[in-house]
Amino acid sequence: MKITFCGAAETTTGSQHLIDINGSRILLDCGLYQGRRDEANERNRHFLFDPASIDTVILSHAHIDHSGNLPSLTSRGFKGSIYSTFATRDLCQIMLADAARIQAQDVKWLNKHRAKEGKPDLEPLYTEMEAEECVRQFVTIGYERSIPVADGVTLTFIDAGHILGAAQVVLDLNEKGRKRRLLFSGDVGRGNNELLRDPAVPEDVDYLIMESTYGNREHELPTQANHLLRDILVRALERKGKVIIPSFAVERTQQLIYVLHRLSEAGEIPNVPIYVDSPLAVGATEIFRLHPECFNDEVYNFLFEKRDPFGFENLSLIRKVTDSKALNDLHEPAIIISASGMCEAGRVLHHLRNNIEDPRNTVLFVGYCAEHTLGAKIRRGDAEVPILGDRFSVRAKIEILDSFSGHADRSELLHYFDTMTGPKERVFLVHGEKESAHALCETLRERHNGQIEVPAWRSSVEV
Ligand SMILES: [Zn+2]
Ligand SMILES: [Zn+2]
Repeated sequence: MKITFCGAAETTTGSQHLIDINGSRILLDCGLYQGRRDEANERNRHFLFDPASIDTVILSHAHIDHSGNLPSLTSRGFKGSIYSTFATRDLCQIMLADAARIQAQDVKWLNKHRAKEGKPDLEPLYTEMEAEECVRQFVTIGYERSIPVADGVTLTFIDAGHILGAAQVVLDLNEKGRKRRLLFSGDVGRGNNELLRDPAVPEDVDYLIMESTYGNREHELPTQANHLLRDILVRALERKGKVIIPSFAVERTQQLIYVLHRLSEAGEIPNVPIYVDSPLAVGATEIFRLHPECFNDEVYNFLFEKRDPFGFENLSLIRKVTDSKALNDLHEPAIIISASGMCEAGRVLHHLRNNIEDPRNTVLFVGYCAEHTLGAKIRRGDAEVPILGDRFSVRAKIEILDSFSGHADRSELLHYFDTMTGPKERVFLVHGEKESAHALCETLRERHNGQIEVPAWRSSVEV
């Protein structure tokens, strides 16, 4: 068997690992590489293999850095099946279409600059229609249901506890009678998630491809998130202002809705209107309602007692632009959750424009913001920031709550590694920037005898 690391090797995005076994080619994930525009454009347009030569794709979860280049693969000749869980398929339906719209905007921007240099126009990476066509190649299976996917290869998805539908990929391999188990961790959650079950403990692992996003960092305890959120909101609403929460549309927003539901039911936060203003977030929330099979016991029971964990009296989900604009005229205290989480695009920009200069208001960050994004500038305390072409003074109070992370931190990754059973003969650390992947590699080498490495991008190994 040969494994080739075609993406998310010594970096976090563009997850793609190619397995050649018994004459079949299996691609684990087909993620979009996200980075500087030119480089991303180059990498995403050119696969390291011929898409038509791939027999099967196995998708760990719907995040764009894992699924976002699937429409390029299918439109460039891949005809096989894409295996995923039910929820992953449903989320991909809306997330890939959204990604196509973002590609179209990006290409418009690129072409403006290319025109100045006399270069020809680029086509978008893929269209919304190609994204929709790609989803027709999905074959869905539930957690813990094994299915043969190629000659001598059986696939089982187990819980990853990362986002709705996220899975660890267990591959049972039989190469000329030699049986081994390969585990691809996908992205591993922290455990104690508000909505999801804890990551399952994998057994009898021979070969491991494991994420290392936070291989050198610890988070706050997940169990503190609800109390910290309550304290921040109580403080903020005492000033009679609005609370703007830039949030990722999928998972983080639903986590927030559920926690706000519990807090408002328990009377722990003031009774103010709460708005979710993002078409993608509203679409994703509807998909969450359809997948109780992904929830932990608490949410599952809540679902059958109260009917809807993602709906309550003072919550409004907003799709229409006119309803979104109406929020500008709102003068009472309110909580507005809007995407994008890093404040790079989306309706949150309008809410920031309208509210960031009023000292009664609060902007609350509940997730990571990549360097150079508007979110990062506000988070780090810039006194003045550019929003949609104009400069604004930051007079609103800025609050940060980082305990909602979807990724295991260093100790949680070590616990994950230690509890899984099997010889773990070969370990490949992927999906981490160089520093964190190598830091985790050093730590694992001190406690485990197997061969542990951080594979380079484009490198192959025979095992
Ligand atoms: Zn992810
Ligand atoms: Zn990821």
